[in-house]
Amino acid sequence: MSHLLSVVVATPAHAGLGAALTYEHPEVLAPGTLVRVPLGKREVLGVVWDGAPLDTGADLATRPITEVFTPLAPLPASWRQLVGFAGRYYQRSLGEVALAALPPQLRELNGVQLARRLKRQPGPATAHTPPPVPALSPEQTEVMARLHTARQPVLLFGSTGSGKTEVYLRSVQQLLESDPQAQALIMVPEINLTPQLEERFGERFGADGVVAMHSGMTPPQRLASWLAAHSGAARIVLGTRMAVLASLPHLRLIVVDEEHDPSYKSQEGARYSARDLAVYLAKQVNDSHPTPDGEASHCRVLLGSATPSLESWHASETGRYVRLAMPSRIGGGCLPRLRLVDMNHQPRKTLLAQPLLDAITERIGRGEQSLLLLNRRGYAPVLACHDCGWKSECAHCSAHRVFHKIDRTLRCHHCGFTERVPRACPACGNLDIAPLGRGTEQIEEHIIERLAGVLRPDGQPAQVARMDADSTRLKGSLEQHLARMHSGEVDVLVGTQMVAKGHDFRRITLVASVNADAALFASDCRAPERLFALLMQAAGRAGRDASLGAGSEMWVQTGYPQHPLFAALRQHDYPAFAAQELKDREAAAMPPFAFQALVRAEARSQETAQGFLNEAAALATELPGADQVTVFPAVPMTIQRVANVERAQMLLESPTRMALQRFLAAWQPVLLDTRQGPAGKGLIRWAIDVDPLNL
Ligand code: ADP
Ligand code: ZN
Ligand code: ZN
Repeated sequence: MSHLLSVVVATPAHAGLGAALTYEHPEVLAPGTLVRVPLGKREVLGVVWDGAPLDTGADLATRPITEVFTPLAPLPASWRQLVGFAGRYYQRSLGEVALAALPPQLRELNGVQLARRLKRQPGPATAHTPPPVPALSPEQTEVMARLHTARQPVLLFGSTGSGKTEVYLRSVQQLLESDPQAQALIMVPEINLTPQLEERFGERFGADGVVAMHSGMTPPQRLASWLAAHSGAARIVLGTRMAVLASLPHLRLIVVDEEHDPSYKSQEGARYSARDLAVYLAKQVNDSHPTPDGEASHCRVLLGSATPSLESWHASETGRYVRLAMPSRIGGGCLPRLRLVDMNHQPRKTLLAQPLLDAITERIGRGEQSLLLLNRRGYAPVLACHDCGWKSECAHCSAHRVFHKIDRTLRCHHCGFTERVPRACPACGNLDIAPLGRGTEQIEEHIIERLAGVLRPDGQPAQVARMDADSTRLKGSLEQHLARMHSGEVDVLVGTQMVAKGHDFRRITLVASVNADAALFASDCRAPERLFALLMQAAGRAGRDASLGAGSEMWVQTGYPQHPLFAALRQHDYPAFAAQELKDREAAAMPPFAFQALVRAEARSQETAQGFLNEAAALATELPGADQVTVFPAVPMTIQRVANVERAQMLLESPTRMALQRFLAAWQPVLLDTRQGPAGKGLIRWAIDVDPLNL
């Protein structure tokens, strides 16, 4: 006698959304059990799923499950619900989302090998002596008290340096003490913030129960972390967005630090928002563990930021989230004073204004550090010929190749196409080709030149370092850069937004934004929000040590010093900025007052890509929800061609999430049909992006 079971396996992205396959097995297996099953000629990893198996019909023989991963507990119900929701909401197949959430190495192991891995697993925690814990500030104390009673998601609106991380640490501590099994998930937006966080959590709780999860880890490391979380051995999981899809059977606390950060939105596969999934997941855990009185099994979700996303801010205005504020910096440190440099009054082609250079020099003399921020790596974004107008365009993309002086290359940051810098203009032979615009390499070179002869208090020459995706590519180089910065070896750090976020650099008293004007007038409605957040974040790197902080400054070089964004920045007034932005968004019927999705298509020609989208839209006018969804005509994407592929997109907008969801679900099969039909001829791929961040 054998039982029929539904099993989810990795299925193509769009195929048969939500469908599981049917297999047979001598025993009933609990939903969430990991298995290996035959699929065609292969054998693949699968997860036993909830619900009755599909009726396969009498003529189709079901195949047996090959192997059951008995040493592993089934994946928890909250995980299955989360994965199911993510698939439905982001319009991907259940199989794709479920299998992508598992560590890749799991697919290669059989039950015996896995059992062996489980024996690698750490033993009982070694004794750990926690360091002295600081007494909480009045604001932290108040927040901790209110956190305890909050039943909704909490938005922790805390200035940079207000001690948000300490609140996370205390919340975790309380949880671990009150519940011997409970697990906490702490997410940060960037891999480069995880070492610092691991150190702080390891120091407080001992390294044994803390694991990391991010894409920079090797497959064996990822598997080990995943198993530790799944078995409950890891009480604390620190990670980037992927960690939200970990299996955490005793999850009771989720922290999303820097919740406004766009890196929480995945840009491939299921384009999920880890922040939004965190909120959903906490609700699932709560719904499945009703707690009339006991605190213990409640799952809290804590979103922290000095510059919340407008979505979360709005939710905290309407009462969906509880907002708790920590406006003051720990130790009474002040937020830096804003110094605007009007570049219209500077000599043409000025890279760094003289007063800014003077202020940096002064700080070097006092043994303080400065941070120069420019959101563009390389030496210059374009190389150009002034005689004939030639520019360093990429042959394969509608974009310029960036000039990297360090290795004398022209590199496309979209497709990677790289060539040596030509000796002369490839079009007219002119020898005098010159960089246009500036990148971090150029600022680094310039500041080294300008600081020649400037000495530190120890009599040594001033040291400049650069931190961006190029300078931190090699393994270990990021840690090296951070260590040099923390030890005080570096006086001036030049970097992209990578350095603006989250780091607790103690000796920085000056931060300068070299040129952010492009973002003031970008067409993307989220550009001002991002710029404001970036500048506030960057400002937050300065004056973190109150004994140095009194004279800390945030410099901004701009051609538009009158722009209202700077007035709010001067006051460190995020609420005023958010109020204005929300008003504009409401008037324009933009998120969070409307809901959006994008459908993107790629083909060898724009015509094909747009034709596919427009054809599918023409077939959708009668679909459920269509009366409440505005479908805009297909347009080329901002960077229309990448690696010789033409890209188009179509925007959908609706006043309600429900209508948009209903419409998208009904439209999927139409898109699949269109793909198979004449309008899909020559199409390379298409994908839906729900709640897109980049229009
Ligand atoms: P945020 O995450 O809000 O930027 P942190 O939690 O990193 O702030 O705190 C900023 C600095 O203040 C850190 O060096 C931290 O160790 C310190 N700190 C935080 N809370 C306290 C406290 N209650 N007493 C003393 N120092 C604290
Ligand atoms: Zn030329
Ligand atoms: Zn290119």
